Amino acid sequence: MTTTSTYDVHTVRAAFPILQRTVHGGKPLVYLDHAATAQKPQAVLDAIGHYYRTTNSNVHRGAHALSAEATAAFEDARAVIAGYVGAARNEEIVFTSGTTDGLNLLAATVLTSAQPGDEILLTEMEHHANIVPWQMVAQQRGLAIRVVPVRDDGTISVDDVASLLTERTKVFACAHVSNVLGTINPIAEWSALCQANGTRCIVDGAQAIQHCSVDVQALGCDAYVFSAHKLFGPTGFGVLWARYDFLDALPPYRGGGAMIDRVTFSGTTFNAIPMRFEAGTPHIEGAIGTAAAIRWLQEIDTTERIAHEDDLLRHTTAAMTAMDGLTILGTASHKVGIISFVVDGIHASDIGTLLDNMGIAIRAGHHCTQPLHQRFGIDASARASFALTSTREEADMFVEGLAKAIRMLR
Ligand SMILES: *Cc1c(COP(=O)(O)O)cnc(C)c1O
Repeated sequence: MTTTSTYDVHTVRAAFPILQRTVHGGKPLVYLDHAATAQKPQAVLDAIGHYYRTTNSNVHRGAHALSAEATAAFEDARAVIAGYVGAARNEEIVFTSGTTDGLNLLAATVLTSAQPGDEILLTEMEHHANIVPWQMVAQQRGLAIRVVPVRDDGTISVDDVASLLTERTKVFACAHVSNVLGTINPIAEWSALCQANGTRCIVDGAQAIQHCSVDVQALGCDAYVFSAHKLFGPTGFGVLWARYDFLDALPPYRGGGAMIDRVTFSGTTFNAIPMRFEAGTPHIEGAIGTAAAIRWLQEIDTTERIAHEDDLLRHTTAAMTAMDGLTILGTASHKVGIISFVVDGIHASDIGTLLDNMGIAIRAGHHCTQPLHQRFGIDASARASFALTSTREEADMFVEGLAKAIRMLR
């Protein structure tokens, strides 16, 4: 097969200082843990450094030049992020500290009028961040949690979603892309089912945001959350997008400065969205760094980078499928470059340690998805995850290293 792609992975890769380093005495770093956190291009490091060198100030309050500049950069970031995900208005973008924070905000506010016995629907492939907050609110309010099963190939049947949506289902909270299986879920289809059922569809986009082209209008969901650090941006910053009317109807979450309109000891009135959900001094350089990450990413052809990652996925999957006693978790035809696997008789953490000694960074453990691992009858798995900076050479080094590790451990 010939390829006409002009995608130059080595140029893209050169933008990441950390990818040039070595580990364990001069071994080139092969970083295949992008699903845990993505590395940061120079443009992001520069934007954050520039902010602190020239503009640092609190936003939305100071009557001085720096504060006005910081506020402008902060709100410009909101506009960049809104544009990137296809929000209808900038006010639909709430800044959070990450996916976990966004999901906690939604779990605490969306179900305030739910009645005991009402239901929350989750899927079996959810990250703990999209399980535990719902369990906490379910316990407080006497709600029931139902779970859509995952099939052996790591996909979910749309018929199962349809049959588990009942007249009592208030929320369906689901991952766009599984951080273990790599499966890309058909969110548009699921959203349509939810809408017809009067159920809010809330999407955990933590993985999808790095690998897919995300358009919340096309997805048709009510809310979409993600973390900046998986999108080549800074840690401690995240985004919650929600449809304007839906978001505007939610009660306040955290109280404090910036989220209020007027405070007296007899009562408080609240600010308009999105500030109503942004109590306290925000992660200003987080917003600015995220906008820089998005601007950097927008310079790269989306179709080409997705095709590049898909090539790495197919290439590596083919090599791993040929390995004796190795099972890949998640073999959906529609998946991103995340490969989780188990090897008969060998613990994932031993594989992780041996690969690390070779300079190859993967993840071993339950990846914050214990129920999914239970479903497959295992406690842990090893996971290699690619990004747009990953190369065929790295994929081959991983496959060779893995074969060697397995030989050593058998
Ligand atoms: C990483 C991840 C989360 C949690 O993100 P934080 O940045 O830790 O808040 C939630 N869901 C999925 C699918 C993830 O991959």
